[in-house]
Amino acid sequence: MRIGSVALVGAGPGDPGLMTVRGLALLRRADVVVYDRLVDRRLLREAPRARRIFAGKASGDHALPQEEINALLVLHARRGRRVVRLKGGDPFVFGRGGEEAEALAAAGVPFEVVPGVTAGVAAPAYAGIPVTHREAASAVAFVTGHEDAEKDQSALDWHALAAFPGTLVFYMGARNLDRLAARLIEHGRSAAEPAVVIERGSLPDQRSVSGTLAEIAGRAAAEGIGPPALTVVGQVTALRERLAWLEQGPLRG
Ligand code: SAH
Repeated sequence: MRIGSVALVGAGPGDPGLMTVRGLALLRRADVVVYDRLVDRRLLREAPRARRIFAGKASGDHALPQEEINALLVLHARRGRRVVRLKGGDPFVFGRGGEEAEALAAAGVPFEVVPGVTAGVAAPAYAGIPVTHREAASAVAFVTGHEDAEKDQSALDWHALAAFPGTLVFYMGARNLDRLAARLIEHGRSAAEPAVVIERGSLPDQRSVSGTLAEIAGRAAAEGIGPPALTVVGQVTALRERLAWLEQGPLRG
């Protein structure tokens, strides 16, 4: 019997054209595809013969617990299948791909990782925001805005984040953006710093809302911004005025 394997593949941020050539090749010859909520359904059409298993996982809605996903990957690989674990964005950026890889390694299942275009770079790019810029930001930090939702104790060092000399990109922060912005200001980030929230980045109905750090949560709420969305804080967001090629330019739609 053929030895099965698992590929942890990044599907990109939304626009199916942003998946890698290698990821697509693996998808086309997969026997089993285990996919997440944020994966564009058009990509699944590339694997018509494969058994497709929805693993869910939007915030607050866990279709399959992580342990079950891990077990599923191991099970199908042990049956000799070529398994593609298709994850939104990049599998190792806030996607729990690291945990899946650990489970595969522990089980002795051969696996590979195919990086993807992460939303934290792609959504800003589609909104006309370069996350670094010679004059405006020499560093960028990717931060989860999620872990803080119910807890008073935060694993994040807000002092360090507020002092971070560069662009901050918060994933999963749509619901608690007000707390997130308040904490940054409380810890010393300027309330006047420009920020932008980007919803459904790289998709045709992408929207973004900008404002100062003090205003951003109220503006996003007023516009009804919801997941998937991420928040970018930093001087680079001001470049959007000139570079919003998708939302304002002739290529719109
Ligand atoms: N592994 C993914 C991130 C998974 S966490 C990646 O590398 O992109 C899910 C979070 O990513 C969402 O809550 C949201 O903050 C962000 N996200 C994913 N797709 C997005 C999109 N198209 N537009 C804006 N944010 C997105």
